[in-house]
Amino acid sequence: MGDRPSSIARSRQNAFPKSSAQPQEQLFDTHPEVSLDFEIVRQAARQKYTRPFLIVDTAIVREKIARFRAALPRVKLHYAVKANPDRRILKAIAQEDAGFEIASTAELDLLLTLGVPVSEVFYSNPVKSRDSIAYAAARGVEWFAVDSVDELRRVHEVAPQAKPYLRIAAPNIGSDWPLSGKFGAGVSDAREIVATAAKLGADLAGVTFHVGSQCRNPENWRVAIEKARALFEAMQKAGLKPRMLDIGGGFPVRHVKPIPSIEVIGAVVNEGLKAFPEEVQVVAEPGRYVVSDAGYFVCRVLGTAVRAGKRWMHWDAGLFGGVIETTEGLKYRIRTDRSGPDIPWTVGGPTCDSVDVVLRDEPLPSDLQEGDFVYLKNAGAYTTAYASQFNGFPLPEVRVFESKR
Ligand SMILES: *Cc1c(COP(=O)(O)O)cnc(C)c1O
Repeated sequence: MGDRPSSIARSRQNAFPKSSAQPQEQLFDTHPEVSLDFEIVRQAARQKYTRPFLIVDTAIVREKIARFRAALPRVKLHYAVKANPDRRILKAIAQEDAGFEIASTAELDLLLTLGVPVSEVFYSNPVKSRDSIAYAAARGVEWFAVDSVDELRRVHEVAPQAKPYLRIAAPNIGSDWPLSGKFGAGVSDAREIVATAAKLGADLAGVTFHVGSQCRNPENWRVAIEKARALFEAMQKAGLKPRMLDIGGGFPVRHVKPIPSIEVIGAVVNEGLKAFPEEVQVVAEPGRYVVSDAGYFVCRVLGTAVRAGKRWMHWDAGLFGGVIETTEGLKYRIRTDRSGPDIPWTVGGPTCDSVDVVLRDEPLPSDLQEGDFVYLKNAGAYTTAYASQFNGFPLPEVRVFESKR
């Protein structure tokens, strides 16, 4: 994990060329976003606190799914398990008849114990071991993402009945986590993969892309859908039968920066989908969108310090304890129970690793002190999922409930 923050920061800079990339104002609207009620969170912290915790209301998870479906009526929702793999949350999502997107056999096993129909599971990390392809295929998984000739051959050899689908590179402009470069075949690589599928007789059955996580620019979906449409044509010309389009994840949630609502993104996507005949199955893989707003992450101030004139505080959860997305540029809305004027604080985690710095010069109340609670809003995704027990600190607790909304 050592060089991850800085390498991602570098690629993010590339994603924002000075002149052109800022999303246009009219792409944003004022559609209200729903969040977990702060009073519930506060009471939960006061009632009992033994270690950092994430509190999640599955009623909000269900609401987000319903809203996604209303905005994108043609699109089948497949939840990306990695965003939050808590069993109770997965169960609620499965009860809403969603499919799933996975990257490992452990994630598959988790879904199988919940009775999720395997045909609705998409196995989609770019390079999978032969063993894990065989394991998944033996349990009935049919859909495997490929973005290289090498992976196509591997999937076809191990699981000749499978339906591999081709991940293409998509524009990541305006995404907080651009994936370009790591995932997705470029135009000439895609051509070669299509030709290889035709030659091998592999049933290359669809196209996918991912616009980058927390994508605030709907244009990325428009451009990627257009690329996918062109590729469908090329596949048909090569004698293949493309019949599935997977528009990936990346749907943003509200933190500090403005976001386009799912309805605004939906309008762009729905327009693009008109170019695909009705019999083409359309899928999306939202992760963050489904679970972020349903949760608050709560931790505590361990103590404060002054170092070289800077005010520091240390929380009992840092990079290794679930608060890692701040290092990649995400700005959470942070609430506390203090009301002093904001001053710049640098926030460290509890561990002895020099990389364990959560925030630098973040404006927070001047009177924060030992024992105070800190509440991170809309933190249901990519927090507990990342946490480790590095340096002997416990994993955060996950508290799941379902409110009557
Ligand atoms: C992580 C991931 C997702 C989910 O991304 P979000 O930004 O959380 O929506 C979807 N598909 C794939 C292949 C992923 O790796």
